[in-house]
Amino acid sequence: MTFDSPPVKFKPYTRQTISQAPQWQHLPESLREAVQVVSRVMPFRTNQYVMDELIDWGKVPDDPIYRLTFPHQDMLSPADYSKLRDLVLVKKDEAAIEETVRGIRLAMNPHPAGQMTHNVPFMNGQPVSGLQHKYKETVLFFPSAGQTCHAYCTFCFRWPQFVGMDDLKFDARESSELVAYLKLHPEVTDVLITGGDPLIMNTRSLAGYIEPLLAPELSHIQNIRIGTKSVAYWPQRYVSDKDSDDLLRLFEKVVASGKNLAIMGHYNHPAELRTEIAQRAVKRIVSTGATLRMQAPLIRHINEDPNGWVELWTTGVRLGAIPYYMFVERDTGPSHYFELPLAKAYEIFQSAYQQVSGLARTVRGPSMSAFPGKVVIDGIVTIAGEKVFALQFLQARNPDWVRRPFYARFDPTATWLHDLVPAFGEKKFFFETDEDTRHKTVHIMSRHAGRRVPESTVEIPAVTAEA
Ligand code: SF4
Repeated sequence: MTFDSPPVKFKPYTRQTISQAPQWQHLPESLREAVQVVSRVMPFRTNQYVMDELIDWGKVPDDPIYRLTFPHQDMLSPADYSKLRDLVLVKKDEAAIEETVRGIRLAMNPHPAGQMTHNVPFMNGQPVSGLQHKYKETVLFFPSAGQTCHAYCTFCFRWPQFVGMDDLKFDARESSELVAYLKLHPEVTDVLITGGDPLIMNTRSLAGYIEPLLAPELSHIQNIRIGTKSVAYWPQRYVSDKDSDDLLRLFEKVVASGKNLAIMGHYNHPAELRTEIAQRAVKRIVSTGATLRMQAPLIRHINEDPNGWVELWTTGVRLGAIPYYMFVERDTGPSHYFELPLAKAYEIFQSAYQQVSGLARTVRGPSMSAFPGKVVIDGIVTIAGEKVFALQFLQARNPDWVRRPFYARFDPTATWLHDLVPAFGEKKFFFETDEDTRHKTVHIMSRHAGRRVPESTVEIPAVTAEA
């Protein structure tokens, strides 16, 4: 689409409507079947713009945006796939499908890094719904109207928000509790409005959540961040939607209030920033005085090529965006399908980082958003004859941990923090309690026995750390 083309109307596709998409009829039957079966567990949501402009249908199924958008057979174990396939396509037994799907989902570590158990704040002795407060200065806010997304990425660590598992979901209907909570917490400087995707909301609804944050009593709130995929999957939101100009005026109002407005754009692949409208969206956002940061997980099958990251970051910088994070894929959902060894992640990051200008080296990574905090892999080095990962916290539950270097024994197969053990004969990392060490011992023993035990579902048996 060129900028002079008439505005395109948003047309979403889900499992129920995908057969209406012109491209669907040309997909091989085996791929269509896999989408129909696996999407019972991991629903997808896409739109006509992604289908027409971002997916290269000549390269399907290996096209990265196709892999990002649609579920695949390999995301389930062969046993789960075959059982579900039989229920969906042969027996068509909805009750049995529902039960099977729930079992599969619960085994996929639906809330990694203590999201449901450790990050929920309390006010007057009651949990505050729709908030998370993990790091001292930052509160996450989940407005209920923003709990759907422009994509349902199959690797998303927030996937319970989309699948109708209400008991696993957190959201807030209005911002009054958020405001009351913030008034009690002058140490909080940042509010991250997230989801899902808050920019799925129309401007009026979004303003209803944002404007109360501009009140004088909340002068300690300096930064309002909005996490969004819209910049990549529906850039029309900033250019040609009927309220896109109103949205930009809202951004200007936040900036004029003296606060920093940071749009945290989720870009996975350079293709998402190649279209004219995506580039125009970046320019329109930064023209309001808001900043736009680029972040994404590193995902097998999607963005393993360092040159892709180079293109993404350099294009972003040229347009006025700021490269921010390369994350390590989280231990949730079909992580076996997407994950890469930490050593490989480091190699990809380093290779991309070495090729970009200093202006793009604002990016940090590869970083794990793990239970104790955001841990970045700084390097792979040999110290005193031992090959180790050099690590540090960029952000931590305990601020004293931030930027304290620590070392883990090099493990070429490790894919997450809980796979790592301390280097130099240490018994535990400086931030670990004895209980953490017991969790990890169980996890590592299970891993070596070929069984994956997710972070938040490990049961601590009555054994010692040495067991
Ligand atoms: S865009 Fe972000 S929040 Fe939305 S589904 Fe993808 S990873 Fe999840």
